[in-house]
Amino acid sequence: MSIQKLTDILKESHNIVFFGGAGVSTASGIPDFRSANGLWNQKYKRNLSPEELVSASFFRNDPEDFFEFYRDKLVYPKAKPNACHLALAKLEQMGRLKAVVTQNIDGLHQKAGSKTVYELHGSVLRNYCTRCHAFYGVDVILESKGVPHCPECGGIIKPDVVLYEEMLDETVIRKAVQAISRADTLIIGGTSLVVYPAAGFVRYFRGRHLVVINMSATQADEEADLVIHDDIARVMGKAVAALEEAEA
Ligand code: ZN
Repeated sequence: MSIQKLTDILKESHNIVFFGGAGVSTASGIPDFRSANGLWNQKYKRNLSPEELVSASFFRNDPEDFFEFYRDKLVYPKAKPNACHLALAKLEQMGRLKAVVTQNIDGLHQKAGSKTVYELHGSVLRNYCTRCHAFYGVDVILESKGVPHCPECGGIIKPDVVLYEEMLDETVIRKAVQAISRADTLIIGGTSLVVYPAAGFVRYFRGRHLVVINMSATQADEEADLVIHDDIARVMGKAVAALEEAEA
């Protein structure tokens, strides 16, 4: 059975890195934002692609509509970590996992207890004033109407999220690549690996076990020594529970 095989791989791994995408958070009720633009366009009588809706130029030129979409489709304050987030936090606690690299911006890995998390696209939980650079939590976005302004200086508050047309944070990339290049096991989960720069990151892996867990096929399936096309929350939850049981 493939979950048994995953448990066996976890058992002999001491430097696991997990690379995850939107699929990791679907069991927490957070849909991939790419699927959210259709309804939004209908509601606001626009015709924008998902990429345009979260682009730097849209934020700059049309901040009212940007925040309308952003509040509606990108921020999920009530979302809770699912079995995958919890399993990864447990693996870190056991000393087996060294880092989570994520494309998600929901902060659920930290909520689950993970300590080393490289957020390639930032986090909706952090926001800053574009004028005085004061930092704010997510409440300032949710509790304001229209464009959120800094209570201190009146500047526009921007989510600490990497928008399209913006560069990823170099320090975060460097640390993520370093972690991947040192890993003995790389688990790629909940991503089809088509989003830049995900596919490129995998090339840095030189360890023993490449595992792919995703509902549909990915570009890495061919190279992987274990591929599981199934719900990642279920798979990771079961595999880590079995590992804990074996070690108890
Ligand atoms: Zn300010």
